[in-house]
Amino acid sequence: MAGLYLIGALPAEQTQSYEGHLLHCPACQTDCDQIGPAVDALATLRVGDAAELAEQSPLAGDDRP
Ligand SMILES: [Zn+2]
Repeated sequence: MAGLYLIGALPAEQTQSYEGHLLHCPACQTDCDQIGPAVDALATLRVGDAAELAEQSPLAGDDRP
């Protein structure tokens, strides 16, 4: 559940009820603490990797003389 919540896959209604649950549930707070950084990294990768890979590719424009 924490994973779905963190990636924003829960419907708004469940997100709200999970947030309420989270306030009182140390186990889920731990889940979020542990999963959160990985989810952030994945989100960054998903958004950025295609553009970044293109920029880093030796085949993409090389400006050096
Ligand atoms: Zn819980």
